[in-house]
Amino acid sequence: MTAAVDASRTPLPTLPAPQAKGAGIDYQLFLDCVHCGLCTSACPTYVELGTEMDSPRGRIYLMRAVTDGRLDLRDKDVRRHLDLCLDCRACESACPSGVQYGKLIEPFRVHMTKALPAAGTLSALERLNLFHVTPYARRTRWALAPLRLLQWSGLDCLLEKTGALRLLPRSLRQMHEMLPRLKRHYGRLPEVLPAEGKRRARVTLFLGCAADAIFPETNLATARVLQRNGCEVWVPRAQGCCGALHYHSGLEEPARAFASANCEAFGQDVDAIIVNAAGCGAMLRDYGHLLHDTPLAAAGQAFAAKVRDVSEFLVALGPVQPEHPLPVRAVYHDACHLCHAQQIRKQPRQLLEMIPGLELVPLNETEICCGAAGSYNMTQPDMAERLGERKMRNILDTGARVVFTGNVGCLLQIGRHLRRHRANLSVAHPVDALWASYSGSSSCLVQNKKQ
Ligand code: SF4
Ligand code: SF4
Repeated sequence: MTAAVDASRTPLPTLPAPQAKGAGIDYQLFLDCVHCGLCTSACPTYVELGTEMDSPRGRIYLMRAVTDGRLDLRDKDVRRHLDLCLDCRACESACPSGVQYGKLIEPFRVHMTKALPAAGTLSALERLNLFHVTPYARRTRWALAPLRLLQWSGLDCLLEKTGALRLLPRSLRQMHEMLPRLKRHYGRLPEVLPAEGKRRARVTLFLGCAADAIFPETNLATARVLQRNGCEVWVPRAQGCCGALHYHSGLEEPARAFASANCEAFGQDVDAIIVNAAGCGAMLRDYGHLLHDTPLAAAGQAFAAKVRDVSEFLVALGPVQPEHPLPVRAVYHDACHLCHAQQIRKQPRQLLEMIPGLELVPLNETEICCGAAGSYNMTQPDMAERLGERKMRNILDTGARVVFTGNVGCLLQIGRHLRRHRANLSVAHPVDALWASYSGSSSCLVQNKKQ
């Protein structure tokens, strides 16, 4: 195997030698990879580019070579191949040797960020938005207020038609393109929502940050569906962002601070901590690992052990049969952090298939990433675009009218591409459909349209 890198071509900034080497990764994790290449066809970047260094095997080789001191982290080609990784973890699902790729790339990114803090591709405005606004639901709601006003007044469409939107900075243009029609927020849920009928379980609900600001109806639907299924639902007031936005950008300390705060906030004695966003769920399940060398190690493990995706929890509980028909042809897109990071595939489909009238048809390449991947749209816009269009071709081929997926990033990315294609399709979370069938209101299925 030949590394597509040449350290001699790139001018290197001065760095203390130890920083350019190991990322504190257990070396055995590298050795688990036997270089068989069975993961390559599952890797979105390899599928698009066909280059070895943009495959899981190639990236493991690069990380190991840097750790061994055979390649230099400051080489821009090394960084480019590693930065292009979506951290989608499709390689973990495909690997017969059980390579834990997430436990390699995530600490390695933390190491890269510490070693080369100035090498990021985000502008100051994008960093402000990503790390100081988006992880805070209330700040995001305030930040979205002018955009909501533009949408409600119809001015956004006028600006789009006249081309005036092109005058906005790239990050604001992207945000406008990404956003669905924003709905009114539900305000504040009571701290405890009673179970309907006989209590079958006691749970806490994780609301998330951007998800709660952009798709408040999905959190509300999750709470209502849980109540309908006999759950007493606690909504901890002091909960915050899961920390994924920071951690996946290599910023470990803020991620740990969020994790510590959540461990304290979710102190109730419950059967499960329920989450409806795949990316958050995968992060919450990783708190034991994230906090392993802190005084909260045991608390992190206890927290992680109780985390359940809403679909996983409901199927295990035995869901109440939904009654109202939703006569629609639909597809389900597997969010990477649900199917690969949490191995949850059947349960969301089982819930959708319970809904009278809903016809679920197969989606080709359903487990290939749609290109959302947290902040990937900002850091790697070209690959995000290619993967979004690839997903769109597969979706449009099915003739479906609704796309269901269990992650906020996928909802935004797929919604954006559907609008760009002016496709007459909606995108929604499975729990939206379940609540629609319980309640008899299908308004959730029009959230993709801006007008
Ligand atoms: S990550 Fe797994 S599937 Fe991929 S090359 Fe290594 S051992 Fe093979
Ligand atoms: S995490 Fe995804 S993009 Fe990265 S190497 Fe694995 S399959 Fe490829």
